[in-house]
Amino acid sequence: MEHEHVRGVDPAVADALEGEIDRQRETLQMIASENHVSRAVLDAQSSVLTNKYAEGYPGERYYGGCEFADEVERLAIDRATELFGAEHVNVQPHSGTQANQAVYFAMLEPGDKVLSLDLTHGGHLSHGHPANFTGQLYEVEQYEVDPETGYLDYEGLADHAEEFDPDIVVSGYSAYPREVEWERIQEAADSVDALHLADIAHITGLVAAGVHPSPVGVADFVTGSTHKTIRAGRGGIVMCDEEYADDIDAAVFPGGQGGPLMHNVAGKAVGFGEALESEFEEYAERTVANAKALGETLADHGFELVSGGTDNHLVLADLRPSHPDTTGGDAEEALEEAGIVLNGNTVPGETRSAFNPSGIRAGTPGLTTRGFDEEDMAVVGDCIARVIDSPEDRDVIDEVREEVADLCEANPLYESD
Ligand SMILES: *Cc1c(COP(=O)(O)O)cnc(C)c1O
Repeated sequence: MEHEHVRGVDPAVADALEGEIDRQRETLQMIASENHVSRAVLDAQSSVLTNKYAEGYPGERYYGGCEFADEVERLAIDRATELFGAEHVNVQPHSGTQANQAVYFAMLEPGDKVLSLDLTHGGHLSHGHPANFTGQLYEVEQYEVDPETGYLDYEGLADHAEEFDPDIVVSGYSAYPREVEWERIQEAADSVDALHLADIAHITGLVAAGVHPSPVGVADFVTGSTHKTIRAGRGGIVMCDEEYADDIDAAVFPGGQGGPLMHNVAGKAVGFGEALESEFEEYAERTVANAKALGETLADHGFELVSGGTDNHLVLADLRPSHPDTTGGDAEEALEEAGIVLNGNTVPGETRSAFNPSGIRAGTPGLTTRGFDEEDMAVVGDCIARVIDSPEDRDVIDEVREEVADLCEANPLYESD
């Protein structure tokens, strides 16, 4: 990836782009929400569709010259429909947050009530954080995971819904390692006549591949990001039943956005097409197997995993019992020096802060895309444990950095130009 055209006019940006490619190639990307898209998706996203205004929807645009934009958007919609089985799909949201925004804007009035998961327990900013528009426009209360087990407290959620009488219940999480029982949340929502938004941002790819139960057909609305476990490039998606289709479309455009990012819609079309291939299912299964292998290795090294393990693509370790003097931030920093990129994360029962939390979150989608298997993950887990055991030991960091380089070389990224 030479970026020769950028280099010709802008060496500073070209240097940064090349630096980023090298960084992704030479270090382990274990941020649970990140992944590596294919060259085909990259190509589609950097296409001339970035030049095109296509406000409206296929066949009903506000601008001329949209025949190819229409074709691309129809392909993205058809493939998403086939992948997820939803009655209606909107592929225009610029991101997962914009997808959620569309649902709130379509269905709620300011002052309406939102019941969502506590952010420190794995919820997302766009589910009612005070700094987000959701926290400022709506009345928000939050449910929790069971402090003993780390699993969602479905009964507590139902009781909370009974007391609070929300207009919408939001499920789907950023740092929850277990399978979500959508039906139980839908039941709780139904029993108080609330809507249910299932935000599958993190697990969109796992749901598409059938390795996590799907909320489509259960929840009233399903939203997602298209760049996390599904490798369709940066963006968002909303799915719903036909009865809400017009309201959702109007809430995306013109409600919350102007022209769609058609180059990203093209990326979605290509990425969704790839996700329909049988290799994608193998990738998704391997992603989960890799997360389990990583979790087991960390547990063998004495780490305490929230919920005791994982059913999906991520593990969340609470460092307080095993490493009381090391914060998630300290661990993140030392690991980055060793070439392992993940993030410090809050944990249930957090006693520190979001800026310097007590846990680390590690995901396997990116490494799985590179070809890592369970044996590799045992090596990676061992590296993580050694660094966190001695976060200030230069020798350990240098040693691990070399092992990371070997792993990267054995599992190359974006190799064929
Ligand atoms: C990542 C995430 C989102 C959306 O994030 P964007 O960066 O806006 O795509 C929404 N909900 C949850 C639960 C997430 O983890």
